[in-house]
Amino acid sequence: MSKTFYITTPIFYPNANLHMGHAYSTTLADIIARYRRLLNDDVYLLTGADENTEKVVRAASAANIEPQGYLDGIVQNFKTLFQKLHISYDQFIRTSDEKVHWPGAQAMWQRLVDAGDIEKRSYQGLYCVGHEAFITEKELMNGICPEHGEAPQQISEENYFFRLSKYTHLVRGKIQRGELEIIPETRRNEILALLERGLEDVSFSRPSHKVSVGIPVPGDASQKIYVWCDALVNYISALGFGRVDDTLFKQFWPADVHIIGKDILRFHAAIWPAMLLSAKLPLPKRLLVHGFITSGGKKMSKTLGNVIDPSVLISEYGGEAVRFFLARHVSPFEDSDFTPTSFKDAYNADLANGIGNLASRILKMAEDHLEEPITIEENLIPEAYTHAFDTLNIQRAAEIISETVARLDRRIQETQPFKLVKTDSEKGKAVITELVVDLYTVGRMLNPFMPETSKKIKELIKGNRMPSEPLFPRKA
Ligand SMILES: [Zn+2]
Repeated sequence: MSKTFYITTPIFYPNANLHMGHAYSTTLADIIARYRRLLNDDVYLLTGADENTEKVVRAASAANIEPQGYLDGIVQNFKTLFQKLHISYDQFIRTSDEKVHWPGAQAMWQRLVDAGDIEKRSYQGLYCVGHEAFITEKELMNGICPEHGEAPQQISEENYFFRLSKYTHLVRGKIQRGELEIIPETRRNEILALLERGLEDVSFSRPSHKVSVGIPVPGDASQKIYVWCDALVNYISALGFGRVDDTLFKQFWPADVHIIGKDILRFHAAIWPAMLLSAKLPLPKRLLVHGFITSGGKKMSKTLGNVIDPSVLISEYGGEAVRFFLARHVSPFEDSDFTPTSFKDAYNADLANGIGNLASRILKMAEDHLEEPITIEENLIPEAYTHAFDTLNIQRAAEIISETVARLDRRIQETQPFKLVKTDSEKGKAVITELVVDLYTVGRMLNPFMPETSKKIKELIKGNRMPSEPLFPRKA
């Protein structure tokens, strides 16, 4: 039986179209998923939309559309972008889906209740609508939320609370022992420091009359389940947790990797594992926490005019080129920066003058000098490449491809097989054959990053012909 591999992206707020950071999370997940499929793992890739939010209601009313139609439109845009990026997801979950998602969220709630971890308390606090969360005095600047530019509402209400504090030490132990692995180390240390200070119990519901969307609390329609026991549960509700048919859940949970941005680390490394422990469910094995993408050293924003729209890049360079760039030049562990110019330079260097040019040179020599295609056994993949994937260092894996391309370029330069073949036919052909075999390895290593380019290179090798046009035309 093949090994299962379950990988997830965050679910995205459909209050605007996806930006570069979302495209990055999803591409990263897809690259890892495709790699695992090459190992013959039984892979399940989940992505989706976090729809039970006032942000959507507000965005819809600003656009003058009723919420469901608004959601459907944005979700369609997400899916179109994912298609252009060659995202091979197995399921796109929508948390407004009453049949797929809601039973899971309610079943999770019930488990927390059964564990004695849900309590009704009265609560007073400052609520920021933009955050969709209570915030503290300390976070305000002159009484205004600095992130959303609005004053929070003073709210006093009855809520259900989850006894998060009870799980501080258990979660900490799981992380310290590596049972819940947090990558990179800096994020692991950050969450351990937070757990060291202790977690406070957290509000898990909101009064139904104050929120227009959301999942009713089982047995108490006056309350709706707040984001934690709603959005986070998507990772298991998608697999059928809480539904009659939970085959996928039994097969795939616990997740092998949750991919998240650093802004949602706390939810995934503190609240989510505590909920799972309370519900007596296994924890995910790894969290890969990536940084933010900036442009020109600044956060992308409409006001600064430095927003790079993934769909604009795709229409200019193609989805595969964008995937390779994200893998090769955006760190999976730290913040990264790029501009339209640095993207173009990287495209020309890595693809037009790199992989594309190398493939044309080698395949031209093969077509000119080899009588028939060479048959290639599934050849060796460098161990460093495998290691990079094992440690989720996707950037390193992409670098190894570029390094291999550079090495082969140098070898052509040094051996000049196109000249050698005229003076010593046997030797020349042997060098060309070696180059073709190594190009095949490049093609194989490219598979998770650029599935179509990978396929094209392997097909050209099998047909012993050079490409009729450059694989990656140079951009001026
Ligand atoms: Zn705010």
